Amino acid sequence: MKSVKAKAVYKGIALGRIYVLRKNDYTVKRTKIDNPEEEIKRMHQAKEMASGQLQNLYEKAVKEVGESSAAIFEVHQMMLEDDDYVESIENIIRTQQVNAEYAVAVTGDNFSEMFACMDDEYMQARSADVKDISERIVRCLFGGEEQSTDFDEPVIIVADDLAPSETVSLDKEKILAFVTVHGSTNSHTAILARTMNIPALIGAEMDLEELHSGMEALVDGFKGVFLLEPSEEVKADATKAMEKEKEKQALLHQLKGKENVTKSGKKIKLFANIGSISDLGYALENDAGGVGLFRSEFLYIGKDALPSEEEQFRIYKQAAQNMAGKKVIIRTLDIGADKQADYLQLGKEENPALGYRAIRICLTKTDIFKTQLRALYRAAAYGNISIMYPMIISTEEVEQIKKISAEVKKELAEENVPYKDVEEGIMIETPAAVMISDELAKMVDFFSIGTNDLTQYTLAIDRQNENLDLFYNPHHKAILKMIQIATDNAHKEGKWIGICGELGADPELTETFVNMGIDELSVAPSSILKLRKIIRELP
Ligand code: PEP
Ligand code: MG
Repeated sequence: MKSVKAKAVYKGIALGRIYVLRKNDYTVKRTKIDNPEEEIKRMHQAKEMASGQLQNLYEKAVKEVGESSAAIFEVHQMMLEDDDYVESIENIIRTQQVNAEYAVAVTGDNFSEMFACMDDEYMQARSADVKDISERIVRCLFGGEEQSTDFDEPVIIVADDLAPSETVSLDKEKILAFVTVHGSTNSHTAILARTMNIPALIGAEMDLEELHSGMEALVDGFKGVFLLEPSEEVKADATKAMEKEKEKQALLHQLKGKENVTKSGKKIKLFANIGSISDLGYALENDAGGVGLFRSEFLYIGKDALPSEEEQFRIYKQAAQNMAGKKVIIRTLDIGADKQADYLQLGKEENPALGYRAIRICLTKTDIFKTQLRALYRAAAYGNISIMYPMIISTEEVEQIKKISAEVKKELAEENVPYKDVEEGIMIETPAAVMISDELAKMVDFFSIGTNDLTQYTLAIDRQNENLDLFYNPHHKAILKMIQIATDNAHKEGKWIGICGELGADPELTETFVNMGIDELSVAPSSILKLRKIIRELP
């Protein structure tokens, strides 16, 4: 039995077999070769192998997500056969007498750059695809098979680190827990684990090379330990602890249907944060009063291309219908920083958290923004949708948003497409927004405080940096004062205010928030009934 200490980002216990997700780090080196024709043959064999992998992926995707979503693998297969692409690789091998890995990687980079510079948006999007297929051929040249994440039974995922795009593409039904060597408590991967009700540990100091898939393990999110090959006694204790936890949950579930009201009659709304429509089940199961934050950017990451208007419309409509009249606040695309989509080609930045993200992308790539707004206004006709804009720093941004949304609604009306006007609010997650919240409150219907970013920007602490978790203190007086300022300014204008950052679920602050006059807390579904219990016990 081996015990590893770690930080828990979601408290829960899981017992099962591990699956080690290894990142293949293939570093391509340029080496001289003697026989170019042999090297070209090797490249063609790898290309065949890549094509076979893509065929399998296509067939699997057709079954699971339908033909239109699977089509990308067909496109990749066709790109593999493109004469110009193959000729370029062969030329580099022949003329420079270099290895196939290098020739494929260089061709991939050149073609990707060429596509990125084209005017046509469809062709620009192919830039990420050509990189993807080149990486696949290189992997095959190294003899590497793609690691399958299609497990037969639910497993504990063990990895060095997980990007949000990797986390969203895993099948939640097949995951018992996450354990990673790196990662920060405030990263979106940690937030996703909490939303999905999955026990998760980060910062587990261990050497992945010593582990192999199939080993038995215990994840204890209460104690912050990861135990490998636990003894029978430890397993029996864990099973008992899981049963106790279940009983506790059952008791909490008796609070379903009850009000979130203090003994003296103060009320507060408890809504759910979700990352996809598959989380709606958790929201309803835990009696959420609505959805306070639907992080729509997860529709954009972990895939090869932008989601179309129709695809988004279907998802937002389903969210509105499933919540049956309850409010569903959908946040517009908040991509950038740790949430990346390669096909958008946003480029590397020195300071991504202070960079090109969220509303800054929407206000400059207005086609992407307008497509999302069209889908949202159309879906609003099917339920109670509100729209929320992230990362606001100025009144000018809100004016620009209003101008664009007015254009979108005008276009829908002219096309006779049914749509509905909705309540629209902004996130208060920058110190600038707090300082001008008196003016902003006059312009919008509501505020929702994003304490994750507000803490990052106020304390000048990168929320992604695991070494700074110790300093990242959302209880800092500066944060609490800012929340009070924004609350008072919202109320002066008769607008409501909520908190949708992780701090909203902090039981130590529930009383403070109720006393401050916060109208709504939007939290991971699993926190709703725990908070209801605390609120009902408050004086
Ligand atoms: C926040 O910043 O608090 C927030 C809710 O948004 P995200 O965590 O997605 O940045
Ligand atoms: Mg944020």
